[in-house]
Amino acid sequence: MAILKKREIDNLEQMSGEELEEFLESFPAGQYDVEDLFEYLEDKLEREECNHSLRFAMQFMMENRLNFPKVSSWLQQNGGYCDCKVLEQIAPAWRKVFGDGEDFS
Ligand SMILES: [Zn+2]
Repeated sequence: MAILKKREIDNLEQMSGEELEEFLESFPAGQYDVEDLFEYLEDKLEREECNHSLRFAMQFMMENRLNFPKVSSWLQQNGGYCDCKVLEQIAPAWRKVFGDGEDFS
């Protein structure tokens, strides 16, 4: 029987401030870049349906010169297979941990 590896995003809530700092240090984008990405996706998906790809996420990362290959592979490992899944699977947990305005970077 395969052991399901818990997604990293699910572990964030259990992390201490120090561990979160380390997580962000190794993360291929900044804490606020990711929050901006969620807002960008919310804005875009209000107007257009998700087409089951990360097209808007890619647009955002290109415009903001983020590391799309690395960030998108992390998103996918955590259930963010397309723009709407990023908002559904990742944004709530990320915001719970980082969304209270505390600066971990
Ligand atoms: Zn989707």
